[in-house]
Amino acid sequence: MTPVEPLELLISRERIAETVKHLARQVERDYPGEMPLLVAVLKGSFVFLADLVREMQRPVEMDFMRLSSYGSSTSTDGRVRLRLGVTAPVKGRDVLVVEDIVDTGLTTSYAARYLRRRGASSVRICTLLDKPSRRQVPVALEYVGFIVPNRFIVGYGLDFDEKYRHLADIRILAGGSDEP
Ligand code: 5GP
Repeated sequence: MTPVEPLELLISRERIAETVKHLARQVERDYPGEMPLLVAVLKGSFVFLADLVREMQRPVEMDFMRLSSYGSSTSTDGRVRLRLGVTAPVKGRDVLVVEDIVDTGLTTSYAARYLRRRGASSVRICTLLDKPSRRQVPVALEYVGFIVPNRFIVGYGLDFDEKYRHLADIRILAGGSDEP
């Protein structure tokens, strides 16, 4: 059992649920015709995607991609690699990228570029968390749940070394990197 005690609470499960519901309403409102194809960036966004789609009141398709960045477990050196691409046809479709967190922006901008290159007619980003203080590349974020400080965050799908993804609340990892 992972000890929860030392991890400071940042965003409670109740606030997350309220915000996810609000994001689902915004997306539905902005796509009055066909819903976009939701593409979740694994692994961290799996919990957010699961909650987001269950708040949607219209049928929605989803797919997954997996990217990895080089560097240590709490920082990246800027190179992103595609580990799993989408299988759904993307050409001519509106796509919504579902992210857990946008930090440097490198992963998200890679995902958006990849989907545009495959012929998506539009690509928008929906992220639960935005950590703007560490941005290295500009990324337009259409849907943002919470803006978070420059701390290393875990829970609700986000891990440290594959731990803590199961936590229902979003917490700050004690000893997490506070470096820019
Ligand atoms: P990027 O720096 O490319 O925007 O984000 C790369 C990835 O780093 C994110 O998808 C996420 O998996 C991870 N990441 C960035 N900041 C945090 C954080 O505070 N906590 C956790 N657990 N992962 C993070």
